[in-house]
Amino acid sequence: MKKLVGIVGTNARHSYNRQLLTFMQRHFQDQAEIEILELTDVPLFNESTDGSDSPVIQNFNQKITAADGVIIATPEHNHSLPSALKSILEWLSFKLHPLDGKPVMIVGASYSVQGSSRAQLHLRQVLDAPGVNASVMPGSEFLLGRAQAAFDEQGNLKVSGTVDFLDSCFAKFLKFVDVIGELNVPDAISYQPGTYAVHATGHNGEIPMSVTLSKDRIENIQIDTSTETAGISDVAFERIPKAIIDGQTLAVDAISGASMTSHGVIDGVATAVKEAGANPDDLKKRRGGTTAAQPEAPVQTLDTDVVIVGAGGAGLTAAAKVLQSGQRALVLEKFPSVGGNTVRAGGPMNAADPDWQNQFAAIPGEKHTLKALAELDPQTIDPEYRADFETLRGQINDYLNQTTGQPGYLFDSKLLHRIQTYLGGKRTDLNGHKIYGQYDLVKELTDHALDSVKWLESIGVQFDQSQVTMPVGAIWRRGHKPMGDLGFAYIKALQPYVESHGGTIMTETAVQRLTTADGRITGLIAEGPAHQRIEVTAKAVILASGGFAANVKMLQKYNTYWTAIDDDIQTTNSPAMTGDGIELGTRVGADLVGMGFSQMMPVSDPDTGELFTGLQVPPQNYVMVNQQGKRFVNEYGSRDELTQAAIDNGSLFYLIADDEIKKTAYNTSQEKIDQQVAAGTLFRANTLADLAKQIKVDPAVLTATIKAYNSYVDAGEDPEFHKNAFDLKVQVAPFYATPRKPATHHTMGGLKIDTGAHVLNAGGQVINGLYAAGEVAGGIHAGNRLGGNSLADIFTFGRIAAASAVADECAVETE
Ligand SMILES: Cc1cc2nc3c(=O)[nH]c(=O)nc-3n(C[C@H](O)[C@H](O)[C@H](O)COP(=O)(O)OP(=O)(O)OC[C@H]3O[C@@H](n4cnc5c(N)ncnc54)[C@H](O)[C@@H]3O)c2cc1C
Repeated sequence: MKKLVGIVGTNARHSYNRQLLTFMQRHFQDQAEIEILELTDVPLFNESTDGSDSPVIQNFNQKITAADGVIIATPEHNHSLPSALKSILEWLSFKLHPLDGKPVMIVGASYSVQGSSRAQLHLRQVLDAPGVNASVMPGSEFLLGRAQAAFDEQGNLKVSGTVDFLDSCFAKFLKFVDVIGELNVPDAISYQPGTYAVHATGHNGEIPMSVTLSKDRIENIQIDTSTETAGISDVAFERIPKAIIDGQTLAVDAISGASMTSHGVIDGVATAVKEAGANPDDLKKRRGGTTAAQPEAPVQTLDTDVVIVGAGGAGLTAAAKVLQSGQRALVLEKFPSVGGNTVRAGGPMNAADPDWQNQFAAIPGEKHTLKALAELDPQTIDPEYRADFETLRGQINDYLNQTTGQPGYLFDSKLLHRIQTYLGGKRTDLNGHKIYGQYDLVKELTDHALDSVKWLESIGVQFDQSQVTMPVGAIWRRGHKPMGDLGFAYIKALQPYVESHGGTIMTETAVQRLTTADGRITGLIAEGPAHQRIEVTAKAVILASGGFAANVKMLQKYNTYWTAIDDDIQTTNSPAMTGDGIELGTRVGADLVGMGFSQMMPVSDPDTGELFTGLQVPPQNYVMVNQQGKRFVNEYGSRDELTQAAIDNGSLFYLIADDEIKKTAYNTSQEKIDQQVAAGTLFRANTLADLAKQIKVDPAVLTATIKAYNSYVDAGEDPEFHKNAFDLKVQVAPFYATPRKPATHHTMGGLKIDTGAHVLNAGGQVINGLYAAGEVAGGIHAGNRLGGNSLADIFTFGRIAAASAVADECAVETE
């Protein structure tokens, strides 16, 4: 029996087109299986916010691809298609092309006699357009005028002549499907056998590949994976080549969260196919290239002690800690790979560790910062923090007295971390609402961040002891940086730890709602990789699903801090960061805190929002110039100060570096640098004047800017912008310019929690059985998160959430 998809061409709640398709589904059930797809959740088409990978568009894509034919039922609006129908056709002809060559039958229902004739004509034109390229059945179009009177109470068409006409149109369509099927049988493809070395464009640049073809098959795909980000691209490298070879096709779905890498691999194979004398387009028309992890499955019911939503840093930490307490842990992750934003992180996590930090010399400007802090009027400090501030003042004054006349060592203490987190997060929004970190949560974080470093070491994370780093916006050097692999280093240790200690991690499993009984959380409902329903009962649920910086609409909805957030703003985040946990929590009564405050990453790639392209060096080595070649801000400023300054200077600016500063970059290799220079995304020149020409600024201005900056480094003081920590001058050729723009980066607001990571309701009471950790929770970072404080937060509160869940719900002793 043929499988058809029926598309209801409207998202109206009551629709005669839906009624018509429902009637056809019933009436023709012996001849074809018609599945009806609704437009309700389809987002308005918008090129800048690519939704091709979203579950709703992917659902249309997969169902249409698998179907023998499509029936579209269109209403008419202003003599043309309704915009909801236009939107889905635009999505399905933007990056995905499931309608290409697909037999389509047009039907329509409308109030007037003429019915939907003009909309049907318009639909035919759209479907015929080259990007859509559907095979629309000629003639035999069914049009139902006066639809409001056409159906009886059972939803059947009343007039037998109308049914007869529909029968004949449908019978023709079934024949048409067969004819088009014949036409679509691909010609046999033959290749010039051999192994082809090709390059594809991935997320971070070129991906070298070698593709082996026999006379009639793609036999092998070898990929040099080193240029892409470990932890993000791995699933694409695993599944895409397999799907291509298994299906002998290039019609393969991209992997969510690694779509550029996926398309890169597909394009690389296409290049090899072309070089071997065949047409890649023929392979794109072949079906069968599924990257789905598992075949269809029935409803699954699972029982565990603690179920964790999200396999990022906080989620995997919580799972590991639950397992260490002897309880069962199940982690559900909506994306194909684990790691969330944590794999994207630069790596440094803040924890005051004076025994280690004191071994390093202070750098110019640091003493000045401490002195200025100690001189603050205590009356400007909020009462909860005042006692800590006074004690810190004593610590700072002792240190300054001890090191008078010497450069001194790098000072730090838990109290300095606490007060800097408080002051760094204290902000006022556009409505005059003041916010700062909740004292007890900030205390918990700063008291236990170092325990988190030690705990991570105990499960296999190795930290680089040779330097204390400071990510942008951190305001103090206390970053513990893992060896190699940036943020992936944490996930690389946590994932195998969880799996080898009896934990289960289910990927491509999106949690949709929490279940409750008798006023407590009893588990959750999720959707698995084959769209199967998964019902989990558990003693406790930990939400660790990250923030919402990839959800521009949600950012705009809550925003009270930025004067505007553009619709097409880029993000540094994984596309998974859509605020699901906040929605899950609020639906069971959770309170929210600080939602209006989001953070922009000032130093992001202007085209992709990526943080780790170009040269990312410690801020003491940043030299930021605007499009006129002038410095415009204290480069050591907080993220929001840098962002606002960038916005005030036209958003686009450049990070200037020299060959020595380049060596302090923590994100790159010479090979990557050369590739980016070749691609024109990073600029390099042997003189500052030539560099200036490349970035289109006046050479005299840039040269004068750098000369002045170098003199400030020598003096240890910046009279222009008061930068307070310097390291290197810009003086050794070649010189570099990295273009940057602000992008959405972090959401400080989220679910309200207490120091035990219990989720609280609007009355301040604990929601029994529900915990939250990581970026999904709010209250700590307030108006501005310090760089390096989030990793400290997720590992600390991930452990706390697990300990509380086990202690409260699993009735065993914990440490
Ligand atoms: C580019 C970049 C660099 C950064 N660098 C640093 C740094 O150097 N230092 C620092 O301290 N911080 C840094 N941060 C911030 C930090 O990485 C994040 O705040 C932190 O990793 C968040 O961790 P998390 O565990 O809360 O969430 P994540 O690690 O983001 O994990 C959340 C997981 O939940 C999953 N999920 C979401 N919804 C659902 C659902 N409905 N069902 C199932 N699963 C779901 C997601 O797919 C994801 O895997 C950086 C952030 C970015 C984007």
